[in-house]
Amino acid sequence: KGPDPDLVAIAERLATVKHKILVLSGKGGVGKSTFSAQLSFALAAMDFQVGLLDIDICGPSIPKMLGLEGQDVHQSNLGWSPVYVESNLGVMSIGFMLPNPDEAVIWRGPRKNGLIKQFLKDVYWGELDFLVVDAPPGTSDEHISIVQLLEATGIDGAIIVTTPQEVSLIDVRKEVSFCKKVGVQVLGVVENMSGLCQPVMDFKFMRMTETGEQKDVTEWVKEYLREKAPELQNLIACSEVFDSSGGGAEKMSREMGVPFLGKVPLDPQLCKAAEEGRSCFADKKCPVSAPALKMIIEKL
Ligand code: ADP
Repeated sequence: KGPDPDLVAIAERLATVKHKILVLSGKGGVGKSTFSAQLSFALAAMDFQVGLLDIDICGPSIPKMLGLEGQDVHQSNLGWSPVYVESNLGVMSIGFMLPNPDEAVIWRGPRKNGLIKQFLKDVYWGELDFLVVDAPPGTSDEHISIVQLLEATGIDGAIIVTTPQEVSLIDVRKEVSFCKKVGVQVLGVVENMSGLCQPVMDFKFMRMTETGEQKDVTEWVKEYLREKAPELQNLIACSEVFDSSGGGAEKMSREMGVPFLGKVPLDPQLCKAAEEGRSCFADKKCPVSAPALKMIIEKL
């Protein structure tokens, strides 16, 4: 029996891609797609040629996070063309192929695997420095299939995104063990939503009245700071939102022998950037999370 023709076709197709990185998470909603999107924006801003492939077939959020909602994929004689944010940042997602973004995609494993195979075989990326693959949460069909299909071409490694709570970390351990079993190197773990941090002046301040009502005293506090303590206006206030008394992702990474890449706080500006489909690095609009993301990306 000769080599699998699909694997040969994928290897040929991806021969022009230098590095392939998977972005994984144990649970949904921890910020995996946000990280994939911002990583891709950042690599493109560093003048790399970048492709972002979204294989989260049941919940594709990448088109929105890249500001590409409502766009279509085109066929050319070279294959499916990614949708481009800029000339060096192309995106492919099932989200581009759904007639109605509100419609649920209810597919069983084989059909999902078929689409992933087609994405890998038929998308014409051209020369890429990085292909970032945003996977669905967990370790299911899509993960096994992407690893098997990319085996011949090699995967550089996986980045695992988590929040600091133990409930999320339990699933990260599974993710790390999945990577070890299938022979994918863990490039590192990112702890996202690691405390809430934002400029003092962006907070709302409330006072509980004696009757138990909350009174908004934001203007009073801000006025006070402006008049009496202007130097405090520039402070960033942080609060631990989730319980990380167990040591969070950093301790878990140490225990599991995988690199810890860093922490990204819960940052309303980052959430806004993701909602609006733009880079959090551009225009210096995320003063709190952009430096954290930058440090993580530089470690890769
Ligand atoms: P996942 O891909 O893990 O399901 P998402 O990336 O879709 O998670 O993130 C879930 C929601 O949380 C999104 O609305 C996103 O904008 C928001 N979010 C993610 N990370 C942060 C953060 N560090 N600060 C603020 N909001 C965030």
